[in-house]
Amino acid sequence: MQNDDIRLQLVRQFPAEVVEARDNRNEVYYACPTCSRAVSMGMDKCTGCTQVLSWKNINQAVSANGTRKAIIEFEVASDFTTGNCRKCPISYIGRNDSGSVYECPLKMRGSCKIKFLNE
Ligand SMILES: [Zn+2]
Repeated sequence: MQNDDIRLQLVRQFPAEVVEARDNRNEVYYACPTCSRAVSMGMDKCTGCTQVLSWKNINQAVSANGTRKAIIEFEVASDFTTGNCRKCPISYIGRNDSGSVYECPLKMRGSCKIKFLNE
């Protein structure tokens, strides 16, 4: 077996979010994020490519107050710590009465919710 195959198999063991899609009759169906085959609701593994599936975001899709949760991934410097707006790649410099401050585009200054992956 080639290294690439082993790597791919490893990657597929990690749950990946199913993709919500619409067929040509405009009906919603769910698809494997790896091979795009249709999967049935709640399946834990794609029968096509063995990708382990996650349904977390789909289940959260309709919540009581009408909001959805979203996640973005970006890289931070190795010495970045949560709440360190100065080192944060998404912060920008704004102005207030006392001069310039690092502003958070997600309005999380002082209550930073950034979590690190692979910790
Ligand atoms: Zn698949």
